[in-house]
Amino acid sequence: MSSKRIIVALDFNTPAMALGLASELDPKHCRLKVGKELFTRGGSHMVEQLHARGFEIFLDLKFHDIPNTVAKAVQAAADLGIWMVNVHAFGGARMLAAAKEAICQHAHPPKLIAVTVLTSMDADELRAIGVEASPAEQVMRLAKLARQAGMDGVVCSAQEAAALKAQLGNDFIAVTPGIRPAGSNPDDQTRIMTPREALLNGSDYLVIGRPITRARNPLLALEQINQEISGISR
Ligand code: C5P
Repeated sequence: MSSKRIIVALDFNTPAMALGLASELDPKHCRLKVGKELFTRGGSHMVEQLHARGFEIFLDLKFHDIPNTVAKAVQAAADLGIWMVNVHAFGGARMLAAAKEAICQHAHPPKLIAVTVLTSMDADELRAIGVEASPAEQVMRLAKLARQAGMDGVVCSAQEAAALKAQLGNDFIAVTPGIRPAGSNPDDQTRIMTPREALLNGSDYLVIGRPITRARNPLLALEQINQEISGISR
């Protein structure tokens, strides 16, 4: 596996700000995550501009629709040349299989990652939409479904990574947000882990936003985290 573990979340509301931050980083040492807000504003042109600067992109659009529509969307993402894309496991086995099928013949298929239960949802909210399982049970149920349907991994909290790996295999990728270097501001994240702890707990890729994007020197912040995790092999 690549030694590039960090995916910097480009949570900006203008393409100019996102490109400005990207120009301060080094594609040899991180990948970038483009989410719904930035993609809606900057579109595929912005992804092309980031590619032109040498960055690999995680397109975090969390597709969730009927199987045919998700398949076409994932195909479009693959045609853009992105490195990773995600879909909601809640869309069900047929939707996940259609997404996989859409890219398996692609010359450069992106890694296909499932979102299980949004971390913003608690047990009460799940119950209100008819899910009686606890959030942890539901995460595991959807992760198993994702694995069976051929997904490459899931987005999860670093706290869940070890259990997921134990049940679903070490090669099932864990992409984990909620990462904070020791002593840094947690912002609105509650269940945080340091980069080192997260990797030791089974994370494969660390999604990190503000500790890098809001740092006075983003490249230095990135280098310090890379240094903290260098030598941890998984
Ligand atoms: O700035 P920060 O490091 O908190 O950014 C984390 C990124 O990961 C944001 O883009 C956020 O939307 C995303 N994310 C998250 N928790 C999840 C799923 C995604 O923080 N469960």
